[in-house]
Amino acid sequence: MQAPSIISVKNLVKSYGDFVAVKGINFEVYEGEIFGLLGPNGAGKSTTLEIIETLRPKTSGEIIVNGLNLDDSPEEIKKIIGVQLQTSGFYPNLNLTELIHLFVGLYQSDVDPSTLLKKVNLEDKAKAKYKEMSGGQKQRFSIATTLINRPKIIFLDEPTTGLDPQARRNLWDLIKEIRNNGTTVIITTHYMDEAEILCDRVAIVDSGNIIAINTPNALIDELVATGFEKEKEVKKANLEDVFINLTGKEWRAES
Ligand code: ADP
Ligand code: MG
Repeated sequence: MQAPSIISVKNLVKSYGDFVAVKGINFEVYEGEIFGLLGPNGAGKSTTLEIIETLRPKTSGEIIVNGLNLDDSPEEIKKIIGVQLQTSGFYPNLNLTELIHLFVGLYQSDVDPSTLLKKVNLEDKAKAKYKEMSGGQKQRFSIATTLINRPKIIFLDEPTTGLDPQARRNLWDLIKEIRNNGTTVIITTHYMDEAEILCDRVAIVDSGNIIAINTPNALIDELVATGFEKEKEVKKANLEDVFINLTGKEWRAES
């Protein structure tokens, strides 16, 4: 049975001056899914997310989040969503526990820092300064901070960009775990392999339009049904598989 819709976007338009960045898009996100917005740089993904997150004004259109209209109830919406800050948004000299205390105060949450750090496999970094962490650890930490207010929905804008293969896989596991615990996830990425593995459904965005929306499998089947075939026969493994097989994909201190 189809899960109910938790986000509904209708005819969303966003103009920056004369430039129309988002051109009347429509989509639904279902409760409990990982929904991917895919597309090249400049497609309008971040603009769309930031509008739903109530951080950017829209030009026109209607957005409903968990039954709340964004025009009427932005403050109510803020309470039930978790938004990932850019990694540059954290005080570099505070340790992870201190940073979580800051957020806990901000959200008046009762989340325990060590439980939260454990969730993202950073419990042994509780006293480490933010600036001392690797890229993958910073991303895991910033995902942890989205969970502080126990949100129904979290928004992750390119959480794996620039990470090494292990750190990417660790984040996939973490994001799936968050979804399995009942949180709806909206994620942007321009890695198609990642979207195929991670996302329950994806929307492909190009120049401000959604040009396809479905499960990754259905989109692939549609393409194959047109007679499309890859030019080369695909090997059973690729170089990334070699790399992961040689270096291991378990959690690592430095990833
Ligand atoms: P994406 O996240 O898909 O890479 P963005 O939503 O960041 O795309 O940007 C979509 C388009 O809108 C781009 O052409 C970008 O240059 C433009 N844009 C984004 N933010 C602004 C802004 N504040 N002022 C003017 N143009 C912007
Ligand atoms: Mg972006």
